[in-house]
Amino acid sequence: MPVRNTACPVCGAEALVNVPDADTKIRKVEPPDMNSYPDTKAACKECGDTFYAWYS
Ligand SMILES: [Zn+2]
Repeated sequence: MPVRNTACPVCGAEALVNVPDADTKIRKVEPPDMNSYPDTKAACKECGDTFYAWYS
């Protein structure tokens, strides 16, 4: 599965997000929110938090 580099929305460190194919980019990332339905979730190695990501 391809991955994209993004910035963790919690601490700003570089984080990796899995994407379904090489053409998919990350549209936005946000901290976890009970009322949001992300395309995928990822974990930041720097701060350990999980965050949400949406594909373009
Ligand atoms: Zn982080």
